[in-house]
Amino acid sequence: MRILIEGWPDRKEELSDDLLPYRAFQNELPTFRGVIFKGDRIVVPKFLRKKLIEKLHFAHLGVNYTLRAARESFFWPGMADQVSNYVRNCVVCMEFSASQCKPPMSTHQIPEYPFQRVNIDLGEIKQEGKKTVMMVTADSYSDFVEVDFLSDTKTRTIVNTCKCTRDMAHRKLLSLTAVPSSTMKNGRSLQRIGASST
Ligand SMILES: [Zn+2]
Repeated sequence: MRILIEGWPDRKEELSDDLLPYRAFQNELPTFRGVIFKGDRIVVPKFLRKKLIEKLHFAHLGVNYTLRAARESFFWPGMADQVSNYVRNCVVCMEFSASQCKPPMSTHQIPEYPFQRVNIDLGEIKQEGKKTVMMVTADSYSDFVEVDFLSDTKTRTIVNTCKCTRDMAHRKLLSLTAVPSSTMKNGRSLQRIGASST
């Protein structure tokens, strides 16, 4: 403030390191009631900067938001770097982003024998205005695929069709020791809705 009242020295060597960055726009620093402005932004003294960044970052809304809020009303040399560093090292933000991490993608275990795991999906085809429901059953071990046409999509119908498919597979294709231990429909176990594996 004193230098703004008394005037800037002609030589930059006469300025302290703190004041040197302001030299380039020395004529753009009006004052009002003891506050220095750069354009319509307040020049923030060094001792208030950290406190101000804390206030601007109270909602923990990330680097861009905090920087935009700072640039709207405040100025000091190196403000962008200081704000960015503060937000990037904010413990609250780091903890929050860690808790938002997606869990690693899980995959099904590779089956060890036929019909250990069976995948089932329902589809619908339309022919001459008539809808037909079909159920596709696929054995994950052998890639055996069975397509059944269903009268409806009720649980009982699906479970009975599953049993028929399994029995047919046992008779025609697979050993009787190949009993499904896990039956899936759209990723959900059918055993939970009444299908039996025996
Ligand atoms: Zn934060």
